[in-house]
Amino acid sequence: MHPVAPGGTVGILGGGQLGRMLAMAAARMGLKVVVFAPERDSPAFQVAGAHIVAAYDDQMALQRFATQVDVITYEFENIPGDTGAFLASLKPVRPNPTALAVIQNRIGEKAFVQKLGIGTAPFAAVTSEESARAAFVTIGAPAVLKTSRLGYDGKGQRMVRAVEDVIAGFETFGRVECILEGFIDFKREMSVVAARGADGAVACYDIVENLHGDHILRTTLAPAKGPQRLKAEANKIASRLLEAFDYVGVMAVELFEAPDGRLLVNEIAPRVHNSGHWTIDGCTVSQFEQHIRAVCGWPLGDVTRHSDAVMTNLLGDEVNAWRTHAALPATAVHLYGKTDARQGRKMGHVTQLYPLGTRPDAFER
Ligand code: AMP
Repeated sequence: MHPVAPGGTVGILGGGQLGRMLAMAAARMGLKVVVFAPERDSPAFQVAGAHIVAAYDDQMALQRFATQVDVITYEFENIPGDTGAFLASLKPVRPNPTALAVIQNRIGEKAFVQKLGIGTAPFAAVTSEESARAAFVTIGAPAVLKTSRLGYDGKGQRMVRAVEDVIAGFETFGRVECILEGFIDFKREMSVVAARGADGAVACYDIVENLHGDHILRTTLAPAKGPQRLKAEANKIASRLLEAFDYVGVMAVELFEAPDGRLLVNEIAPRVHNSGHWTIDGCTVSQFEQHIRAVCGWPLGDVTRHSDAVMTNLLGDEVNAWRTHAALPATAVHLYGKTDARQGRKMGHVTQLYPLGTRPDAFER
């Protein structure tokens, strides 16, 4: 595939805040954007030159979309497999739909990661009452039961302590395929956002620490404090995954720092990620520009962090404090153009910058 030069058009599947920030980065690079999303009031529509409102299985609409763009990418991982395959028969889809298909299923994803010699929580599949019993014998308590597909922000998951909990959870989730994971009493949750270019080059942003509330990301501390070894290990994990998937684009790898200090992969996001938002203000080239560069066949950009950062999500009516944040020094306010501030909904984020190495320890925990 030839690079998509300025003046070319990027197609983005999904119209949320990630699509919006991708579209803004593309515009800055002289590229046009068409966003495809089923929701009429998608935040990304506000900043894209063109958009299509249709269901992800509407083949006519997908075809129309493909004719308007030079390359297709996506901002969320739950694109139906058939949609990716159909689009790939019409235009280059990056990251490739095969990687997407593996990542969409937690069982396949963890098996893939382990095969590369990278650590994860121990896990077993639950597809019946019988396998629930077997899984509980293998994994033990406490454990976490999750649907193997379509979970996000803690939805479709629960802690379990007895075999009855596993069976009850499996029933509650509608007897869909589940994964039982050993509970990791982690020291910290971290992530690494990394990119691979069409030429195979890999670039990793600094490893960050993520603080959650009610399973939703609240704050990202960039960089994560800790020994240089952590950063090297995170980069090795991300690079190995990117290469194994023959991946082109930005990927985020969510990690647990295990009690013994090892990094375990919790989840892979085949897209730009909330824990990479700080890169807009803390690095020369943001994760959004990096992703557009990669999928368009441009050289990857510089991922060097020029400032330390604390990124805080504005959830629900917290967005009403935008004026207060806007008045703070060294603070960038990002709002997503959403009107309905439902509880827990990601409405925007703020990034506070600090000169390198000066982030106050008060943010540590
Ligand atoms: P996930 O949807 O897999 O990212 O899980 C959401 C959150 O649940 C994670 O960010 C962790 O805080 C917690 N969690 C998930 N899996 C485990 C596990 N195996 N051990 C401990 N905590 C977990």
